[in-house]
Amino acid sequence: MAQVYYHNDIQDEVLQSKKVAVIGYGSQGHAHAQNLKESGHNVVVGLRQGKSWEKAEQDGLEVKEVADAVAEADVVMVLLPDEYQPKVYEEQIKPNLKEGAALAFAHGFNVHFNQVVPPSNVDVFLVAPKGPGHLVRRTFEEGAGVPALFGVEQDVSGEAREIALAYAKGIGGGRAGVLETSFQEETETDLFGEQAVLCGGLSSLVKAGFETLTEAGYQPEVAYFECMHELKLIVDLMYEGGLEGMRYSISDTAQWGDFVSGPRVVNEDTKERMKDVLTDIQTGKFAKGWILENQVNRAEFNAINNRENNHQIEKVGRELRELMPFVKKSQSKEKEVVNH
Ligand code: NDP
Ligand code: MG
Ligand code: MG
Repeated sequence: MAQVYYHNDIQDEVLQSKKVAVIGYGSQGHAHAQNLKESGHNVVVGLRQGKSWEKAEQDGLEVKEVADAVAEADVVMVLLPDEYQPKVYEEQIKPNLKEGAALAFAHGFNVHFNQVVPPSNVDVFLVAPKGPGHLVRRTFEEGAGVPALFGVEQDVSGEAREIALAYAKGIGGGRAGVLETSFQEETETDLFGEQAVLCGGLSSLVKAGFETLTEAGYQPEVAYFECMHELKLIVDLMYEGGLEGMRYSISDTAQWGDFVSGPRVVNEDTKERMKDVLTDIQTGKFAKGWILENQVNRAEFNAINNRENNHQIEKVGRELRELMPFVKKSQSKEKEVVNH
């Protein structure tokens, strides 16, 4: 089994003497900044004037312009949306980065695909929590944590690995387990997971099931409950006990159906297409498409998004969720993005 580092295994003195600038105060930023501060570290938040600035100050943090926060920091954690990182990096981070400082990320995308090219005189590492930022904060407050990956791309100080581990401990990752990775592995597996399984694979599976039932004349409301609503109950069982735990709880009829019909739907052909998706990630084809899409103000992204939001499963789902206030309530929290 890969080595997993836990809270008490990790020495964090190396970070005690350092000033940490957390750039951005969104999903990840607010969690990193507050958790690090409560772990006893010296934190400044780097932002532009605006909503986040006010929020960070209300939360009792020291806030400065990005350039000023970077200029005084020994560790600079970049927690801006991935699409905006290259521009902010070039204009405000790079010119102010201290020699020998550490530049850090929570996702390897920009460094791995050369959208951010760090200078050779700084450490470069990542600490990637494997969960949404709001959970990184909530679990920390509860005395628990979200598992995290760490990886070192460039080690100038000779301490980059220790600093990364101490950082992972500071945000609470050590309570759940911290695993070593590389920028390449973190980036490619993260993109693959969200595309093939967690987000892309799952939403396509749900829609295909819903369409199959409604096109066969069944009521859309019944199809919605069957193919979307119940999913959460199944996923919770998988989260707690794996496939075995899920199968223990469902009926034997459902389990037999799982065995004989599941592989007819997701089969060797599907796996071949998953390999194509992985190839596009590995070759940089996916990254290039996404970078270009942002340069044309997301023309295709927005068109697909509109079409998707008007799908029948979404219309019927909105109506049904209105009638289930308990469902709406738990979803009205701040936007949380799966794993990214
Ligand atoms: P968010 O979209 O939540 O970040 C928004 C923050 O960035 C806001 O504070 C916003 O401030 C600030 N911001 C945006 N543009 C600028 C700018 N030009 N100058 C200064 N501040 C700016 O990002 P995430 O937390 O989702 O993602 C951050 C990183 O973490 C990414 O690399 C992502 O891949 C990674 N990650 C994210 C996960 C998640 O749960 N979301 C999970 C694991 C990794 P303002 O209010 O002024 O707009
Ligand atoms: Mg059933
Ligand atoms: Mg991601």
